Amino acid sequence: MSTASRIPPPESQLSGWQPVIGLEIHAQLSTQSKLFSGASTAYGAEPNTHTGLVDIALPGTLPVPNRAALDKAIRFGLAIGARIAPHSVFARKNYFYPDLPKGYQISQYELPVVADGTLAVRLDDGRVIEVAIERAHLEEDAGKSLHEEFHGATGIDLNRAGTPLLEIVSKPVLYSAAEAVAYMRAVHTLVRWLGVCDGNMQEGSFRCDANVSVRPAASDKLGTRTEIKNVNSFRFVEKAIEYEIERQIRALENGEKIVQETRLYDPTRHQTRPMRGKENANDYRYFPDPDLPPLAVTADDIAAVKAAMPELPEARRVRYIDALGLPEIDATQLCADRATADYFEAVLAALPGEAKLAANWTLGEVSAALNDAALTIDASRVPASALAQLLTRVREGVISGKIAKDVFAAMWTGEGSADEVIEKRGLKQISDSGALAAAIDAVLAEYPTQLADFRGGNEKLLQFFVGQVMKRTRGQANPQQLNALLREKLKGE
Ligand code: ADP
Ligand code: MG
Repeated sequence: MSTASRIPPPESQLSGWQPVIGLEIHAQLSTQSKLFSGASTAYGAEPNTHTGLVDIALPGTLPVPNRAALDKAIRFGLAIGARIAPHSVFARKNYFYPDLPKGYQISQYELPVVADGTLAVRLDDGRVIEVAIERAHLEEDAGKSLHEEFHGATGIDLNRAGTPLLEIVSKPVLYSAAEAVAYMRAVHTLVRWLGVCDGNMQEGSFRCDANVSVRPAASDKLGTRTEIKNVNSFRFVEKAIEYEIERQIRALENGEKIVQETRLYDPTRHQTRPMRGKENANDYRYFPDPDLPPLAVTADDIAAVKAAMPELPEARRVRYIDALGLPEIDATQLCADRATADYFEAVLAALPGEAKLAANWTLGEVSAALNDAALTIDASRVPASALAQLLTRVREGVISGKIAKDVFAAMWTGEGSADEVIEKRGLKQISDSGALAAAIDAVLAEYPTQLADFRGGNEKLLQFFVGQVMKRTRGQANPQQLNALLREKLKGE
């Protein structure tokens, strides 16, 4: 069990103070049904239509754990090299709120299903940090209070009540806002890669509470922390933490004490402000839920999840570099999400040995077109198989790499497959030496002065003639053949 914590990097200190951050990330597990009921988890339905009897806390109903949620928690645990508890315990976290009809949230407290993992996180500057993850536990989400649509009243929507969450708790081992955000991104990539969470931050499927404290740089005792609740964008997390670090340093330098409290981030003012005093664990009167026996996970359960585990992002990145010979930067970008890496591999499967070509197109033309159209790669208008056909034509010499870009653009707007566009637009490269020779002859006849110059020793003019022939053939001359034939003819047969 790696509990060794990282030493803060010296550059993370701010005028004698050391910021310390720990994140609690809530990832909604992408299951069909809820954690303890058969109701649907689909987002965006009419209020209170996805609510089972358990979710509305009808007396006498009993929760039944969702197997798929457990398997996804195990999958995440294995991916971060954590211990999977053979018996974990569901506990009641008691508090009153209108969107929590039972009066308690079912969570895990003393015995979480996943404990003691680590995640390697690549920072923007290329450094890699090992972030210790204390635990990841299963819990149910609460409902939603709707304040806007009602005057002088609050609506309650229980569609979200009981949705399965995995709460992923880091140790306080992040030492700057940048490190915290890089870690949050890495977790986001991983949960989507594993298929355990869709990562949709607008819909609240991936959100984070940031715990922030500062201490004198020389001290190794943690300072008092505040917790910034429910920030749902990477940029806001970074801004909120930066603000909070500065606020705490200023307060401490003024001789004030930091109050342990929950704060809210206001994205319009880029400030955090107090929301409520921080509860301590004993305020929640946690106790094991008598309705639920300990959650048992056998070695066979773990083996089954392991067997279905996809290759992990870091392993794939290393394979792209070592086995496919891709530059590190390409490998890193391709593995930024699994859909991109899978797309690349599907192209490569049809073009063995052309990893660099497939990577260039995936990260170049395809990425740019997706960006423009605000689409994700699984919705690409040119699927991997279609791109593979296009690149095959380039490799066969049917079209040049330059013309391929025009063909791609036409494919993107729906003109048809690569072959159809090449055919329809008459883009086939001219490899017929008769046709090429005719084009060259015509150009030489048109520019007698330049021809004489060339023959008199001005060999730089070769490029001029190449350009003219290309122009005459609308870019369709096969470049190698053109070069060979042109050289011959320029020499005077
Ligand atoms: P609670 O359950 O009360 O929220 P935990 O001890 O479980 O508290 O910690 C929650 C999160 O807060 C963890 O991510 C942890 O790393 C972080 N944390 C705890 N103490 C500090 C601190 N002094 N400074 C920064 N982060 C902290
Ligand atoms: Mg907490």
